[in-house]
Amino acid sequence: MARYTGAVCRLCRREGQKLFLKGERCYSGKCAISRRSYAPGQHGQARKKYSEYGLQLRAKQKARRYYGVLEKQFAHYFDLATKIKEGKKGENLLAILESRLDNVVYRLGWASSRAEARQLVVHKHFNVNGHKANIPSLLVKVGDVISIDEKSRDNAKIKSVIEANSSRIVPKWLELNSEKFEAKKLAMPAREDIDLDVEETLIVELYSK
Ligand code: SF4
Repeated sequence: MARYTGAVCRLCRREGQKLFLKGERCYSGKCAISRRSYAPGQHGQARKKYSEYGLQLRAKQKARRYYGVLEKQFAHYFDLATKIKEGKKGENLLAILESRLDNVVYRLGWASSRAEARQLVVHKHFNVNGHKANIPSLLVKVGDVISIDEKSRDNAKIKSVIEANSSRIVPKWLELNSEKFEAKKLAMPAREDIDLDVEETLIVELYSK
């Protein structure tokens, strides 16, 4: 399935919550969901009662859209999560999604949105353990050091993004050293570290059918 290229605010309205897909705009009064908090389309304002399957599907779509992951990739992450012996499948799935390089870049405040983070990663602005990393889906491991490439530190775009997001709170599973333009992954993110409002057990139920 191809990547969605339509108006992303529609995705938030469909899921009935902010998915933070548009950077700065998401934190402003211009956010579409604060102005029209109903689903898009002709029947968007009609009352909807979801079936059990409908609820599971919505939970999966919400998580998939939040992280900007394609269907096949998402199913692959679920497979990975089921292979982890410890913990709950749903929480492991979210921890894996959080570990994607594009998400880590976003969490560090080095991008305004995950979509922007993906673009900056593809343009080779970051290193992992000293090596250029241009794959947004790369899973950052505990102990890995992520840094902004030396050549990119004076890049006007990178500078302005870092400045704009300097007040963002970095999650505790990441240790940011702003002076050195680098960060270390200290641990796998726990459920309470992940601010996505989703019932991950519904996703597990969907894939366990
Ligand atoms: Fe979603 Fe951001 Fe659009 Fe608001 S501005 S609806 S949070 S993408």
